[in-house]
Amino acid sequence: MTGERRVWSIPMTTRFRGITVREGMLIRGEAGWGEWSPFLDYTDPAVAEPWLRAAEEAAAGDWPDPLRDRVPVNVTVPAVGADQAHQIAASSGCRTAKVKVAEPGQSLAEDQARLEAVRDALGPDAAVRIDVNGLWDLDTAVTRIPVLDRAAGGLEYVEQPCAAVEDLAAVRRRVEVPIAADESIRRAEDPYRVRDLEAADVAVLKVQPLGGVRACLRIAEDIGLPVVVSSALESSVGIAAGVALAAALPELPYAAGLATVALLTDDLVVEPLLPVDGALPVSLPTVRADALERCAADPDRVAHWEARLLDVLALRDDRR
Ligand SMILES: [Mg+2]
Repeated sequence: MTGERRVWSIPMTTRFRGITVREGMLIRGEAGWGEWSPFLDYTDPAVAEPWLRAAEEAAAGDWPDPLRDRVPVNVTVPAVGADQAHQIAASSGCRTAKVKVAEPGQSLAEDQARLEAVRDALGPDAAVRIDVNGLWDLDTAVTRIPVLDRAAGGLEYVEQPCAAVEDLAAVRRRVEVPIAADESIRRAEDPYRVRDLEAADVAVLKVQPLGGVRACLRIAEDIGLPVVVSSALESSVGIAAGVALAAALPELPYAAGLATVALLTDDLVVEPLLPVDGALPVSLPTVRADALERCAADPDRVAHWEARLLDVLALRDDRR
């Protein structure tokens, strides 16, 4: 790998997924920049390798032609009180809300109140989905999903009600609300396991962990499940790859989980991918030189990312 590389570091607006600062590397190729930003706890080079393939695909300009020019996205409503949930949903401009539930220390009544508020804010035609992040056991999922379905005035789907893919399959057989697999899909082989176990009605796909836009398109075709494209909390350079995937899917029945740029306090492109009227434009990212300077990581972090990159490249050499 000989192209230009830049390591960036951007504080998050709020703690998310246990992190307060997002870091990554931009890699320059024939066509532009690609983002390589595997989470820091993904220390295994074999896990970080497909993320690099996604960056290389972007830098080579190798995305499929888009079939649409805008991609609807969901607003994410964190596990906040009902009033704040109402305000977040109402001001988002989105027609789909993803509402976090099952927050440790909170009650079922709090989840119900949050969902009622979101439905009130968005009206009867909006789609409301919940994300459990795998925090319920099987029995809790089976008892709570119908309750929250009623509170929401109908749920679009439940994302990852339990951690284990076997439990997703069991929940799916016992509730009416469709089930989506998110955390169960982290590596390229995972979507096939979800399909084989009939564990979900919907697959959440993320471009970087699955090895790029074209790899995700192949997976979507192979598994025969509707897909929700989501982010891995990238800068707008990485989010653009998610938008490219959503734009290229033959069918796009669900709003994408790509409205996450606002979780970062800064960005690397001329026009950050923030939703307008509930959608993101399909476009190629234009990286700003001054943003690369402003967001440049400290030398010790640059050294860390260069070492990570060497580990992944060494793994590839070993596989040859
Ligand atoms: Mg999720």
